Amino acid sequence: MSVVIGVDLGTTSTKAVAYDTTGTELAGASHGYPLDEPHPGWAEQDPALILAAVLRSVRDVVSQVDGPVAGLSFSSAMHTLIGLDDQGTPLTPSLSWADSRSGAQAERLRAAAGGLALHRRTGTPVHPMAPLSKLVWFREQQPELFERVASWVGIKEYVLSRLCGTLVTDHSMASGSGLLDIARLDWDPEALRLAGISADRLPELVPTTHVLPGLVPSVAAEMGLPAGTPVVVGAGDGPLANLGLGAVDPGVAAVSIGTSGAMRVMVENPAVDPLGGVFCYALVPGRWAVGGAINNGGIVLDWAGSALAPDVGDDPEALLELAARVPAGCGGLIMLPYLLSERAPHWSSLPRGAYVGLTREHRREHLVRAAIEGVCQQLALVLQSMRAAGNEVRSIRATGGFARSELWRQILADTLGMDVSFPAGHEGSGFGAALLGMQALGLVPSIDVAADLVRIEDTVRPDAAAAGVYAGLRPVFAELYDALVPTYRSLRRLAPQLPLDRPDPG
Ligand code: ADP
Repeated sequence: MSVVIGVDLGTTSTKAVAYDTTGTELAGASHGYPLDEPHPGWAEQDPALILAAVLRSVRDVVSQVDGPVAGLSFSSAMHTLIGLDDQGTPLTPSLSWADSRSGAQAERLRAAAGGLALHRRTGTPVHPMAPLSKLVWFREQQPELFERVASWVGIKEYVLSRLCGTLVTDHSMASGSGLLDIARLDWDPEALRLAGISADRLPELVPTTHVLPGLVPSVAAEMGLPAGTPVVVGAGDGPLANLGLGAVDPGVAAVSIGTSGAMRVMVENPAVDPLGGVFCYALVPGRWAVGGAINNGGIVLDWAGSALAPDVGDDPEALLELAARVPAGCGGLIMLPYLLSERAPHWSSLPRGAYVGLTREHRREHLVRAAIEGVCQQLALVLQSMRAAGNEVRSIRATGGFARSELWRQILADTLGMDVSFPAGHEGSGFGAALLGMQALGLVPSIDVAADLVRIEDTVRPDAAAAGVYAGLRPVFAELYDALVPTYRSLRRLAPQLPLDRPDPG
């Protein structure tokens, strides 16, 4: 049976996994790399280390697989940006999606007339994560370097150029750049003008199922594969996560809560809601991922553990036992979980966390539970925006670290007011990449097979009473965000006078 290796370029590691065409996992390997933060808000990586991790991960997998490999197919973290010289050598690090150095540029672009129109036309929220905002930052802050850059690319484009000697970008990665007109699948002239570049400084656009000429001999030898082994360009990890979960049919959404979180649904035609709450990223013609990512997922539980219950330590289960002692709604206590600011559905870098509704009767179990409820309410706001963009959401598949907790599974179903299904395996973006690769190489008829390959292990139904409590609190949760915007602005202004720690006496 044919074997395809899905390679997922993640933020902290690259994972390579070999699958056969029944979706059976044959072998996997992963290698990590650091995310450097040389200044507050900067989050960058060395492209050479990521390339090395790709070579080693694939080589490790190849050594475990019997028989030939039909091809490689790629998934990648979205919104990365690297400037290359005319030889294809990086002149900049790879700026990750989490890099917020272009916060001021993004705020300016958002506030300008046409900011929302830009989001709706490009599918990408105007936010510091977007390569568009990062390009404006480079143009303003490092003009000499900006002029020397021959091509602006993302990490997957760089890696593939080294593997196959060709510089291209797929429609999916491009749809996360803030530079692509998603209706025309071509670069958006207005976005290019704002970025200050012409299209010849961007890679050629290709479909996600585009098959590159194959591995160059030196790379193939390092991976233990024949030269010319086909390489499928692949797509962004967001849309591919839906594919990997079998959430490919319109109406079936995928939600994940790991360290951060996300919710997406596949739709046939690209569209962003009128208020600009969702993103819209390409997968294949007739399949677009509409949804939102949130910065604050499991990280909020981890914070609650260390800040509120250090005696419980870093044991998530013990913390969740605390949360289980108090009822839905926490006696009127609401937590806005914006510890790492927030993305969807407001896409502003201003917000900070808050507890509202505290009374003397509230105990730490209320504070812990309110934190988890806040994460789920935020995802419910994303779901509202997805529906406001005109999309039906009939069912939900979920994955991520939170799924280890029955309580958290139930709170999610109750908050969303919908059944939530959990797949048996840990399918993700790498599996999605492999499936897309199989279609591109003609090994499966269509990516629609995904829905049949993923087995659902458990479905959690909402409890009517708890769902009623959360639905009642949701408008309050949503209004709090708006009410606090002036406060967030004041706190941003005062931030330089408000250090977290006392100055070092030495
Ligand atoms: P990542 O998103 O980094 O791949 P995971 O999907 O493994 O990570 O999710 C990590 C998060 O899962 C942690 O931040 C933690 O809060 C949460 N978590 C870990 N163990 C449990 C558990 N037993 N129950 C609920 N949540 C958990």
